[in-house]
Amino acid sequence: MSLSRLNSPRLFRQQCYIGGSWVDAQNEARINVDNPATGEDLGSIPSLSAAEIESTIDTAQAAFDSWKRTTAQERANLLMRWYQLMLDHQEDIATLMTMEQGKPLVESRGEVAYAASFVRWFAEEAPRMYGETIPGAKPGQHIIVNRQPVGVTAAITPWNFPAAMITRKAGAALAAGCSMIVKPSEATPYTALALAELAHEAGIPPGVFNIVTGDSKMIGKVLTSSPIVRKLSFTGSTGVGSQLMAQCAEHIQKVSLELGGNAPFIVFDDADLERAVEGAMICKFRNTGQTCVCANRFLVQRSVHEKFASLLAKAMGELKLGNGLDDGVTQAPLINRAAAEKVQQHYQDAIGKGATHLYGPTPGSDQGSFVHPVLISDVSTDMQVCHEETFGPLAAIMTFETEEEAIKIANDTPYGLAAYFYSRDIHRCWRVADALEAGIVGVNEGAISNPMAPFGGVKASGLGREGSRHGLEEYTELKYICMGTE
Ligand code: ADP
Repeated sequence: MSLSRLNSPRLFRQQCYIGGSWVDAQNEARINVDNPATGEDLGSIPSLSAAEIESTIDTAQAAFDSWKRTTAQERANLLMRWYQLMLDHQEDIATLMTMEQGKPLVESRGEVAYAASFVRWFAEEAPRMYGETIPGAKPGQHIIVNRQPVGVTAAITPWNFPAAMITRKAGAALAAGCSMIVKPSEATPYTALALAELAHEAGIPPGVFNIVTGDSKMIGKVLTSSPIVRKLSFTGSTGVGSQLMAQCAEHIQKVSLELGGNAPFIVFDDADLERAVEGAMICKFRNTGQTCVCANRFLVQRSVHEKFASLLAKAMGELKLGNGLDDGVTQAPLINRAAAEKVQQHYQDAIGKGATHLYGPTPGSDQGSFVHPVLISDVSTDMQVCHEETFGPLAAIMTFETEEEAIKIANDTPYGLAAYFYSRDIHRCWRVADALEAGIVGVNEGAISNPMAPFGGVKASGLGREGSRHGLEEYTELKYICMGTE
C-alpha cells in the first residue's frame, strides 16, 4: 500500500496484535489483501496456526485475571482514551477502510465516528453496571445480585463494517471487564489492526484486546473448542452463524449472533413520499447496499406506487459510482466479483419471472465488482430477491392493496432483523410496528443504527443485542449471593 496517504503511517500494521505485541506466524504463512476498487495488492497478514490461536487464548486468560479486578471507572477512562484516539485518527482509519473495503471515503469517515461512539457509550455505561438487592427468604437473610464479566470472549466480524462491528463487541466486552480476541474478516484486517494500535496507545493492558488473523474456519474451531473462551459474538452470514452456534454447544459457551436479514420497507398510501424516498435511499444504498439492515423488499401500496417509484428513480439518478477514494463518489465497488454476480443473478431471475426494469443500466454490463444502482418493479414473492439478501444496489418494488397483506408479506421470511414503514396515521403506526416480526422497526425513519439502542434480530437473524445497556449485559453473568443469618 502506498503509505503516503496516511498522516500516521504507523497505523498500517501487517502483523497480529497479541498480548500487547505485534507478531507474525511462526511458519511465516501469510494471506494477501487487495483493494476491491483497483485490484491493487495492499499487503498481507499472518496466517496463524492453531497452536498460535491456543496460546492467544492463554494470553487473554492471563490478562482477564487482572483486568476483571480493575474498577469500572479505570476501564471507562481507558476506553475514553481509545475513543478519542479513534476520532483523532479518523481520516487515516477511513482511508485504510476505503482502500481495503471499497466504501466511499465519506461513509468510511462516518463509520469511524460511529465505531468510536460505541466505545464512548460503553465507557459511560461501565460505571453503571448495577446489581440488585432483594428482600431475603428468611428474617435477616440478604440477597445480593452482582454482575460479573463472563471471562475471555471472542469476536468474529465481517467486512461490511470493518470498524463498527468490532467496537460494538469489544467496547462492551472491555467495559464489562472481559478480555477479547477478535478475528476480523480476511478482506478488511487493516482497519482492525489500526484500532489495535490505538488501543495500545490508549494504554489498554496487554492481552485484554487481541487481533488474530488466518484461516477463518480453523480459528472458529479453536475458539469454540476451548473451555477458556466463555463467549463468542459473531456477525456474518446465517449459515456460518448456525455452524458456530453448534460448535459453541460443546462447552456451553454463551453466544451472540447478528446474522442476515431480509428487511421489508413498506410505503403506505398515507405516507410522506418525499421522506419515504429519503429513508429508502439511506437504507438501500448506504454501503452500496451491503448492510444487514438494508431494505431488501420495497412494498408499496398500489395507489402511490407510480409516484414513489418515480421519486426513487430520480433520487437514484444522483448517485455516483466509482472508486471510494474519489471525490463525490457515493456508490463503490462491491466487496468482490461474487457479490456483483449475486446482484446480477437476482436481477435476471426477477426479470425472467416478469419484473419490470424501471431505472439504471442492466447489471452485468458493468466492470468487475462495480454495479450501478438499478430499480425494478412488479416483483412477486416467487422471485429470489424476495427470499435472499441481495447485498447490493438493486431496489426491488412489489405492490400491495391492504395493510394486512403488507404485514403478511413483510413477515413471510425466516429472517427478522430490521423492518421499515412510512405512514402518517398514528394508529396504523402503532398497529404495524407491533405486528412486524423484526428486532428493529424504523417508523418513518431509515437510519436506525446508533449506540444507545439495542441492535439485533429475531428468528433466523440472530440472538442477543448489541449497543445499549443490553449490549453490556451480554458480557456479564449474574451472581446471586445469599447472605445467611447468624
Ligand atoms: P460474509 O458474507 O459477511 O462474508 P461470513 O459469515 O462468510 O459472511 O463471514 C463473516 C466472518 O466469519 C468473517 O470474519 C469470516 O472470515 C468468518 N467465517 C467464515 N466462515 C467461517 C467459519 N466456518 N468459521 C468461523 N468463521 C468463519
